[in-house]
Amino acid sequence: MRYFLQKNGALHCEDVALSDIAEAVGTPVYVYSAATLARHYDVFAKGFDGTDALIAYSVKANSNLAVLTLLAKRGAGADVVSGGELTRALRAGISPNKIVFSGVGKTGDEMRLALSAGIYQFNVESAAELEALSNIAAQMKVNASIAFRVNPDVAAGGHEKISTGKKENKFGIAWDDARVLYARAAKLPGIRVQGVDVHIGSQITQLEPYERTIEKIGGLIADLRQDGHAIETFDLGGGLGIPYGDGTADPPLPSAYAKMVRRATDALDVRLIFEPGRVIAGNAGALLSRVIYTKPGETRNFLIVDAAMNDLIRPALYGAYHGVEAVSPKPGDTVSYDIVGPVCESGDTFAVQRNMPQMSAGDLVVFHSAGAYGAVQANQYNTRPLVPEVLVSGGEFAIIRKRPDYEQILSTETVPDFIKNR
Ligand SMILES: *Cc1c(COP(=O)(O)O)cnc(C)c1O
Repeated sequence: MRYFLQKNGALHCEDVALSDIAEAVGTPVYVYSAATLARHYDVFAKGFDGTDALIAYSVKANSNLAVLTLLAKRGAGADVVSGGELTRALRAGISPNKIVFSGVGKTGDEMRLALSAGIYQFNVESAAELEALSNIAAQMKVNASIAFRVNPDVAAGGHEKISTGKKENKFGIAWDDARVLYARAAKLPGIRVQGVDVHIGSQITQLEPYERTIEKIGGLIADLRQDGHAIETFDLGGGLGIPYGDGTADPPLPSAYAKMVRRATDALDVRLIFEPGRVIAGNAGALLSRVIYTKPGETRNFLIVDAAMNDLIRPALYGAYHGVEAVSPKPGDTVSYDIVGPVCESGDTFAVQRNMPQMSAGDLVVFHSAGAYGAVQANQYNTRPLVPEVLVSGGEFAIIRKRPDYEQILSTETVPDFIKNR
């Protein structure tokens, strides 16, 4: 089921015409479908019906409070990687006992915040982090429940910038150090050993790397239990890929992923934790933009749009593919366009040589599959206001992040007297 559909010659998100949103809010703007977010979460959760599983949505994929609140109401937990994300998750009503904290560089302040909230699990990524967490938890007279993020040395495909489960990546503890570190953790004050964690990468398009990871971790869990640790949780991380419409084979459906995981983990006797991000939010959102100019060239036709790499950095950062669609396609022959933004960098290119209906200045286009790692990575490069976000539900829509005006942007900056009076 798709919730971005052409109806009567105009692209809609659910029952709202995108042209109405552009009119009301201006462009560029992210548009999310509430029905899609809900459906993606429900489909993922349904795969684990009847098993002991926590679905901790990966907040970094799309951390808007409205999105988090929608998912919280459906029962989602949260995987956070900073104090800021933790604060968002709590504000959205996600119960602390459904929150896990990942990331290689948790600071003391962030640990204190998470310990005061009473989160469910810290995914610890180094010996140094373990010591720091133990010290702080002991000072606070609480216990931190931990899993080590173990690096299983499994290549999971995807782009090198989003592969995380290989030896040479910065993430997790080395496989060979695991038993020694678990033994160390078991002796430390303020630490309660609870489980094992992995996260092998993102935009993973096959089940096989997951299956190999589960097999390896299954062996580790058996070893750790033999060493006397009570391993209760197995966090398989996130990473399941989504179709981007780039002509490659579609990734496995969440139902197939769930079926494989249930079979492969059946004998482990653990509570499963998942940290899906992209698979929930990616295809629930699009970036809506307006053509500023068309620029016919000898070899290329450029479509210069009012969205740029600061609004959606994935093409520039990872060479990522986003489907492009005209909001009101004109009949007649298609034209091959290079679609670029106004930022002063050659990398500010969304797509090359895409066949589209003839476009004119003022026409609207969308970049599909932009609901994850889109708005969250936006910035104000070239002093372009932070791109706003809109949530659609049925025939309604609301602005869920406002576009700042120039005064608001400048208001956080000050010129010190030693410069003013120079
Ligand atoms: C980014 C991340 C996720 C989510 O990855 P997706 O590919 O969006 O599912 C989950 N866990 C950790 C630790 C992450 O860093």
